[in-house]
Amino acid sequence: MIENKTILESLERQLCTGCGTCVALCRQKAIKLVKDVQNGIYIPHVERELCNNCGICLKVCPGPGIDFDQLNLEVYGKISENILTGIYRNCYIGYATDHDIRHQSSSGGLITALLIYALEERIIDGALVTRMNKNKPLEPEPFIAKTKDEIIEASKSKYCPVPANIAIREILEAKDCKRFAVVGLPCHIQGLRKAEMINKELKTKIVLHLGLFCNHVPNFWGTKILFQKLKIKEREIIKLDYRGDGWPGCMKINLKDGTIIIELADFWRFLGMYFFFPTRCLMCSDLFCELADVSFGDAWLPELSNDKIGTSIIISKNDIAENILLKLKLKEKIELCEIDVEKVIQSQVKPVYFKKKNLAASERLFKNVPVYNNVLEPDRIDKLLAVFPYVNSRMCSKSYFRRILRYVPFEILSTYNNAYDKLFLKKVKQDKKI
Ligand SMILES: Cc1cc2nc3c(=O)[nH]c(=O)nc-3n(C[C@H](O)[C@H](O)[C@H](O)COP(=O)(O)OP(=O)(O)OC[C@H]3O[C@@H](n4cnc5c(N)ncnc54)[C@H](O)[C@@H]3O)c2cc1C
Repeated sequence: MIENKTILESLERQLCTGCGTCVALCRQKAIKLVKDVQNGIYIPHVERELCNNCGICLKVCPGPGIDFDQLNLEVYGKISENILTGIYRNCYIGYATDHDIRHQSSSGGLITALLIYALEERIIDGALVTRMNKNKPLEPEPFIAKTKDEIIEASKSKYCPVPANIAIREILEAKDCKRFAVVGLPCHIQGLRKAEMINKELKTKIVLHLGLFCNHVPNFWGTKILFQKLKIKEREIIKLDYRGDGWPGCMKINLKDGTIIIELADFWRFLGMYFFFPTRCLMCSDLFCELADVSFGDAWLPELSNDKIGTSIIISKNDIAENILLKLKLKEKIELCEIDVEKVIQSQVKPVYFKKKNLAASERLFKNVPVYNNVLEPDRIDKLLAVFPYVNSRMCSKSYFRRILRYVPFEILSTYNNAYDKLFLKKVKQDKKI
């Protein structure tokens, strides 16, 4: 008998994103996610006795790559004309008018406001969102929120691996008449769209796909080593928030005997280092969550530098997104202001370059990198610049190197990382295409 391929093929080629789609779609319940401690990510484990080799897990896996033209045709009925952003209808900046929601979210609280409205208006019966696990405060917990409080509890970005799509199983098990929203990173929405291609029930039940912009997700070592350096004991942590408390917000670590607050700029200097990039994130071409109905990011724009509460940047891509955003605006639940697509790119220049040129350069340099049809042509310097993040990301999977990281002072690590970033930014500026 010729064996169908399973999700283990993605894993063996180091292409698994840890999104969890395979777990939810496996009818045999033969797949669960486990932690790959060396790499600080989630990976699938297949129970051989339960697996019937149907191959669905691999079909829905975003890991081996995405044919963006094919999925754009399927989702939006056309292919993208903008290689940097993917398909867009309109771009906006905006925020929730409820001060507390805006203040306690990542950027403008738009996702939280939108989901609450969709629940209250019965557009959806639940939303797939992610909160931090109460019993394991450093681990995320994707779940289906069915109340306003649960949606608020799940607000704010989680800068650690999140297997959001495992909760799709609950959507599949819900009654046929139930409708849902899903909030996810680009890899989650890619997996979901692939799953919807082969599971029409899922396509009917999920009526809103809300995407987050994403440059990369730091692996678990980012947070762990940060806490080791700060001499924070994991067992003392009761609750962890990566964002919130205004703009750009701060990390809040609730300990048994007090609270530690670290500004975003301070903790991101460490967490954002290339050591903590999962290697798979270096192979992703999708910053703006190109397959969502609407995607949201931080509005890093100079004109908003005095903002103290938070503003989101939004790319709406279809009628579904436009209808709900405009209704929210009419009901005065959100403020929205239309902007040019160039502003969106301006707010994310470095990540855009990273996704579109650095990846293309990696494609030429490293085996196993999926080939995408939404990247730009790299030149020789791009190829040179692609080596550093790759090597750094691989180094972090070695335990001896992680031990060294614990003891090297922040300043030295920052200088090392910044030297590369300077070269990188110089190249971005020279590049007329971005
Ligand atoms: C790992 C990561 C990387 C990001 N990178 C960028 C970037 O490069 N540029 C940029 O402009 N913006 C980036 N963002 C998006 C930005 O941080 C905000 O999440 C976004 O602007 C939405 O803000 P909001 O206030 O509307 O969301 P909120 O109202 O705070 O709601 C956030 C929603 O996202 C869900 N969520 C949070 N974290 C995750 C996660 N890791 N996986 C799945 N769902 C999650 C929550 O459950 C919640 O429903 C990133 C977010 C994450 C999580």
